[in-house]
Amino acid sequence: MRILVVSTPVGSLGSGQGGGVELTAFALVAGLLQRGHQLSVLAAEGSVLPPRCRQAELWLEAGVDQPSWQHRSRCSAVEIPASGLLPRFWRRALHRQADFAVILNLAYDWLPIWLTPHVATPIAHLISMGSVGEAMDGVIAEVAALHPDRFAFHTAAQAADFQLPGPPRLVGNGFDLGTYRFEPQPEPLLGWAGRIAPEKGLEDAAAVAAGLGLPLAVWGVRQDEAYAERVEASVPAGTLQWRGFLPTERLQAELGRCAVLLNTPKWNEAFGNVVVEAMACGVPVAAYARGGPAELVQPGVNGALARPDDLEALAEAVRVALGVDRAACRRWVERHWSQEAFAERIEVWLEAVASGITSPQPPGPA
Ligand code: UDP
Repeated sequence: MRILVVSTPVGSLGSGQGGGVELTAFALVAGLLQRGHQLSVLAAEGSVLPPRCRQAELWLEAGVDQPSWQHRSRCSAVEIPASGLLPRFWRRALHRQADFAVILNLAYDWLPIWLTPHVATPIAHLISMGSVGEAMDGVIAEVAALHPDRFAFHTAAQAADFQLPGPPRLVGNGFDLGTYRFEPQPEPLLGWAGRIAPEKGLEDAAAVAAGLGLPLAVWGVRQDEAYAERVEASVPAGTLQWRGFLPTERLQAELGRCAVLLNTPKWNEAFGNVVVEAMACGVPVAAYARGGPAELVQPGVNGALARPDDLEALAEAVRVALGVDRAACRRWVERHWSQEAFAERIEVWLEAVASGITSPQPPGPA
């Protein structure tokens, strides 16, 4: 198939601003190329594809980033800034639509979903977050009622946030496991990785690390600087080791040194890439039993789960996770979350979409 992948309009690929979507984009592009498909990727100016994606054609577009839905109130109106990247992406995608069997949208945004019934080339949406805004819930419910086949989700917990006419298509996620080196021998160090923003709950991991008397290494983009400073001030000096945002190759080398990774979502985390990435390095995960991580952490096999927002339970989960077999964490990831298996699931989905489970009449004006 000729496939056009429309990336996130929240930041350039490689910047970290898009969060887990960036790594997901790389895995599915690389995996679909390996399976013989032809890929074009439409992404924000400044985006860089890793070597394994270089056979894909990269189309860059300049424009103003979309505000991300998770940092706005639930009842916010749909907002598109002047010179916005999102409409520019879709102007180009629609102009070139006849060249593709299917368009795969990775943006969690109203416009591409709303367009779906009105466009000749089928548009498929990989939804990257749970419910964070009423306008998004509404457009997903409306379009899924017409075209349920056009939507895929990462986990059951995420999909359960939305009003769908039938069982959701779940595709999980995928990782280039050759990039992650198994590290059998940890240091006395806890880890935390993700965008540094309130929905990720870094303050809870910091408090638990301080209580256990272990340092917490933190990797990720400081998306909310004031929040990062509040977290820093909430624990004794030296508890947090800010390591910055690292490309995957360097992140994995550092992650592998951790005894346990803490994952503390305050929202319905759609998947939780960093959970699987840590396990791929042999690091067990202590996570809140919320969203994707509750499906990824298999208690006793690759980590431990704690009642959400319960710091004592999280500290206990860290103690349990310290005793988990690191090799078993790596094996579990190999069994479930390889890039190859992910690409196969995406291919099955896109073939169904492209082979004309065709659109019924688009809804006319009310
Ligand atoms: N990440 C990274 N370098 C860092 C810290 C994080 O590349 O120093 C990436 C990580 O690989 C993961 C993403 O940031 O793909 C975070 O994704 P996750 O699904 O955990 O959360 P999201 O940001 O999507 O809410």
